[in-house]
Amino acid sequence: MATLVREVAENVFCVGGTDVNWVLVRDGSDLTLIDSGWLGDRAAVEESIRAIGHRPQDVRAILLTHAHLDHMGALNHMHDRYGTPVYMDPVEVPHARDGDLEQASPVDVFVRAWRPGVLAWSCRILRAGALKHLKVAHAQPFPHEGALDLPGRPVPVACHGHSSGHSVYHLPDSGVVATGDALVTAHPTSRITGPQLLPAFFSHSPQGASAALDVLVDLPADVLVPGHGDPWRGDLSDAVAHARRQV
Ligand SMILES: [Zn+2]
Repeated sequence: MATLVREVAENVFCVGGTDVNWVLVRDGSDLTLIDSGWLGDRAAVEESIRAIGHRPQDVRAILLTHAHLDHMGALNHMHDRYGTPVYMDPVEVPHARDGDLEQASPVDVFVRAWRPGVLAWSCRILRAGALKHLKVAHAQPFPHEGALDLPGRPVPVACHGHSSGHSVYHLPDSGVVATGDALVTAHPTSRITGPQLLPAFFSHSPQGASAALDVLVDLPADVLVPGHGDPWRGDLSDAVAHARRQV
């Protein structure tokens, strides 16, 4: 599958894989990668890095929003081939290391397969590795609190709920926030358009996911790059208000 690479702010790229996004952040010759698609997106991750004129070796680190299979797919590949370290919220580390994921089960998905588009999406994600088991033995917690010494100076912000250690990443210099699955703008299982929470069955704690939107409201950002759906421009408080109206 050809990847769609969009520069959403200077040196910040949203890449669309198999119904999921990852983000590349550039600083000179170096990159930060946020999330990494499904297992079946590994080649697409490399392709997207080359599409913006870089090599996979240029990725200084991968930041994971949360340990769900559709965001973890290239972590082992990048680590094993290029030595790329992978960081995440300390709460999420054991989930990634043990493969003990707080993830919707295939049954949760297939009981909804009658909805328009869900069956086709299910087939796409099955091909991309939705039933594979994945452990990331090298997963590490953030080395310290606050802005990380990586391209884009990303600031992890705890946004627990969708998974119990979910992070969003704020890029203060470019006014972007990569929200992972804490706040998305579309999903094949949803008929809502615009900023929204994922359907509750995807979340470890739907109540927690809703409450966690509070941490996004005051972030100084005007571009939201979600884990699923198109990038969205505007005030984050408007995005959160829109999501809350849908619940
Ligand atoms: Zn997720």
